[in-house]
Amino acid sequence: MAGKIGVLALQGDVSEHIHAFQEAGSYLGIPLEIFPVRGADQIARLDALVIPGGESTTICRLIDKNSMRDAISHFSGGIFATCAGMVLLASSIIDDDRFRPLGLLDITVRRNAFGRQKDSFEADIAVRGLDTPFHAVFIRAPVAISAGTGTEVIAEYNGGIVGVRRGRALALAFHPELSRDRRIHIDFLKRLGIG
Ligand code: GLN
Repeated sequence: MAGKIGVLALQGDVSEHIHAFQEAGSYLGIPLEIFPVRGADQIARLDALVIPGGESTTICRLIDKNSMRDAISHFSGGIFATCAGMVLLASSIIDDDRFRPLGLLDITVRRNAFGRQKDSFEADIAVRGLDTPFHAVFIRAPVAISAGTGTEVIAEYNGGIVGVRRGRALALAFHPELSRDRRIHIDFLKRLGIG
């Protein structure tokens, strides 16, 4: 089945996500239309929405400025959120009340959870559903310190939750679009019935 994937393009690493999904689509041999999304009217007809990394405070402010909160909150397709995207999907954020996250996943997150020395690092981590470790790139990454019932924890690092899934929504504290490995993208598309 063909698929339409929109990458929220208000701020953050948009082109890397487009490229990663293009590669995943080619691997699966399925035509994907992948494009930047900047307006609420583009969202409902997507099969999946990517919420990229960047600065969650900025992305959240722009979501509200562009009146996109309702369209994202009511979106019934897949959501692929990375890093700042994971912060945005959370139900609550620790020690930071500068913005109201979307609350689409029942997780509590801590922003910039790895402190200064390890602001950015790479690590091979186990991800549920993958038979060998995934080389994950963390950039000023958040962690979830709790996940509600029904939210499946798919990856942990140093005692923190760095990957969760619920229904069609996937949130990762790291950046799979920056790794060469496309298994997470491919698995996401397959679960949506695309590919
Ligand atoms: N620390 C950023 C935030 O909380 C996220 C960093 C990233 O997306 N790479 O917004």
